[in-house]
Amino acid sequence: MSGTDHDVIVIGGGQAGLAVAYYLRRAGLSFVILDAGEGPGGAWAHTWDSLHLFSPAAFSSLPGWPMPAGDTDAFPTRDAVIDYLTRYEERYGFAIERPCVVEAVEALADGLQVRLASGRRLTALAVVSATGTWSSPFIPAYPGQDQFRGSQLHSAFYRSPEPFRDQRVLVVGGGNSGAQIFAELAPVAAAATWVTLQAPVFLPDEVDGRVLFERASARVRGEDGPAGFGDIVMVPPVKAARDRGILHAVRPFERFTPDGVVWPDGTAATIDAVIWCTGFRPATAHLAPLGCVGPEGRVEVVDQRAVAQPRLWLAGYGNWTGAASATLIGAGRTARELVPRIAEALTAEPSGMPID
Ligand code: FAD
Repeated sequence: MSGTDHDVIVIGGGQAGLAVAYYLRRAGLSFVILDAGEGPGGAWAHTWDSLHLFSPAAFSSLPGWPMPAGDTDAFPTRDAVIDYLTRYEERYGFAIERPCVVEAVEALADGLQVRLASGRRLTALAVVSATGTWSSPFIPAYPGQDQFRGSQLHSAFYRSPEPFRDQRVLVVGGGNSGAQIFAELAPVAAAATWVTLQAPVFLPDEVDGRVLFERASARVRGEDGPAGFGDIVMVPPVKAARDRGILHAVRPFERFTPDGVVWPDGTAATIDAVIWCTGFRPATAHLAPLGCVGPEGRVEVVDQRAVAQPRLWLAGYGNWTGAASATLIGAGRTARELVPRIAEALTAEPSGMPID
């Protein structure tokens, strides 16, 4: 028994945090999950209404309890994922505090102290940060952006095409978010233009999340092969846009004007709204007091353990914490590797050291 409140504090109760909790419970370690969300589901609670997984349920399960397959072979909806995550955390009875924002993690002599926005402080021998990226949207800087009078929205806050009906819209970003949002906006907008840095890379129709997971795993094992993540999965709305002949992207504009943008050939276009599908950064501001947060929010890790702070572990975020660790299926494997490492590190602790 340590002198801390818990053996482990997990920050973030999305899929990555829940997968870690599953293995912590099995390892017999005491823990609590602190989650800023109003309810279960992590980032899924904020994604757009029409979003489907890009893998079938069987390839989208957390450890211990498979995602119900539903009544079709179709890829599950976002609501089905939220329902699954809700039932998953109920099933295992995890101790989760919500909404509970962690402001800072600080080093103590024999543990870590987690400071909450409420002012409360909790201590643990180890902390797993699994805060994802959703709360840290990234928007690139373009000249004149602050003078643009139209609306700007990051994909993190996009829910449906309806508010953009009959508007002139730019969708900026060459990943899956950009492709999917452009595909569903184009039919209702007065004019929709898809802006990408390079020509988008479309995966073959038969490649879905299963294949991407296998590719990511192979690359982590050191095998050569295509990367795949970041390339566009041909989910049904994107296929439909391609089949209608509208799935075309142009290279970026040069600058904003108050009414729109200027393209590289000098022509000006009037634009009502810009939707930034330009990605996210790891939400790691709470780790800054530990001095381990590098450029773009990344933390240097070896085997999921922070190099600068050995009591800190990371799960989710991206491939740098484990193969496909930001996906449902990858989260389980990341956690399965991570928890025994924590258990081993804690076993080596001089036990019963009170911290103050
Ligand atoms: P999150 O789900 O973001 O959970 C992190 C939790 O931490 C949140 O609840 C948040 O409130 C909380 N938090 C953040 N900061 C703090 C703090 N300071 N204190 C306390 N709590 C905090 N994944 C798949 O597996 N399959 C797919 O088919 C798939 N398709 C996708 C399609 C698109 C277009 C996109 C954009 C994503 C897709 N994803 C898919 C990825 C998936 O949505 C996310 O990567 C995933 O939700 C990340 O899980 P996570 O647990 O790491 O983070």
